[in-house]
Amino acid sequence: MARSEISLPELSESQVIRHYHALAKMNYGVDDGFYPLGSCTMKYNPRINEDVARFSGFANIHPMAPNEHCQGALRLMHELSCDLCELTGMDAFTLTPAAGAHGELTGLMMMTAHFKKLKEKRTKIIVPDSSHGTNPATAGYLGYEVVVVGSDDKGDVDMDDLNDKMSDDIAGLMLTNPNTLGLFEPNIMEITDIVHEAGGLVYYDGANMNAIMGITRPADMGYDLVHLNLHKTFATPHGGGGPGAGPVGVTKDLERYLPKPKVIETGGRYSLDWSGKDSIGMVRAFNGSFGVLVRAYAYIRSLGGQGLKEASEMAVLNANYLKKKLEGHYEIPFNRSCMHEFVLSASKQAHEHNVRALDIGKRLLDLGFHAPTVYFPLIVEEAMMIEPTETETKEVLDEFADAMIKIAKECEDDPEMVRSAPKTTPVSRLDDTLAARKPVLTWNMKRD
Ligand SMILES: *Cc1c(COP(=O)(O)O)cnc(C)c1O
Repeated sequence: MARSEISLPELSESQVIRHYHALAKMNYGVDDGFYPLGSCTMKYNPRINEDVARFSGFANIHPMAPNEHCQGALRLMHELSCDLCELTGMDAFTLTPAAGAHGELTGLMMMTAHFKKLKEKRTKIIVPDSSHGTNPATAGYLGYEVVVVGSDDKGDVDMDDLNDKMSDDIAGLMLTNPNTLGLFEPNIMEITDIVHEAGGLVYYDGANMNAIMGITRPADMGYDLVHLNLHKTFATPHGGGGPGAGPVGVTKDLERYLPKPKVIETGGRYSLDWSGKDSIGMVRAFNGSFGVLVRAYAYIRSLGGQGLKEASEMAVLNANYLKKKLEGHYEIPFNRSCMHEFVLSASKQAHEHNVRALDIGKRLLDLGFHAPTVYFPLIVEEAMMIEPTETETKEVLDEFADAMIKIAKECEDDPEMVRSAPKTTPVSRLDDTLAARKPVLTWNMKRD
């Protein structure tokens, strides 16, 4: 086929640049402004991580290059695993899972392998009613029966309910701590003991690790397996479906089940180890999202142990500061000291003015902020989950609080205006599911 027969767009470089620049201006990201999307840890991503990820020695290696040609990359993976072990108290890590949800799958596959080895038939996984949707989805996907344990009136795992539901066919419990209400489970040691006494394992959903770095560790709380969302806690740009990484750490007893390959060090040389008959096998091609691993490594090394601890302390301080400022204006169903995030309820606005959490989120867009997470966790009516992160200034937190307070007032004075927001964005209210089901992949800006 001649080149002229292929219908390629005839565009100059400047036209292409303008096209993408125009599209970029319609977007909103952490570099545009405050992004308090709870559970997602939308912190600032330091640019040094990007520089390091683009070093040609990292960016241009072929995944099938021989070990001797990529000692630096292997060393980075080995050292990152060691850092993650230190932060979580676990004994070994795999870096290959692609995201948190994939880490959950990997972790539960290891649990399954463990009970198969012990010749124990365990068919159920317990998750709290506040859990992230990926927890029951992962357990269900692997054929486990999902048993839901309730929350008590303080927002913690209901201990009576947990004791009632514990039995010898429970493979394990999946629990994030701080939980999805942003609250630290005060009974965590008792919870992990109860599961262990019945022969089960406890899985740490590490999406909320940003609250506890250098302060406490999942292993010390009695957890057996952990995933970390490197793209959340360790500052890789995320959202919009970009690559992530969900490394999984385990205690010594479970190490033999880790996926292949493992990076090992012998006498200062690094190699990929494909041995291990109990391994669950490969969960992803090659070594996972290597670029994300580089960013996480750069982030961890540039902050250092003390810096990571300070990051968590500031994340917790910022969340508590913001919660205090919003206290009189919105309901806070479980109002006690929070960790790195907290959950408000728009129940008062909904009942009195027929303005819902979704409307408030949309109105925030007009005021120049990203919306918080809404309608999660499921146990809070009209939930708005706010996670400010450690990288915001007091000025930004104050501006956001002012905007939220202004909206609370608008709900009283002009609820219709809030219900019809946003007015200043490129598009207003969209059909949320249509975009996923019938995506329009070619878009002519002139046409629309
Ligand atoms: C984000 C999140 C997950 C899933 O992680 P992904 O990296 O998005 O797959 C699981 N649990 C909690 C609590 C989360 O916030």
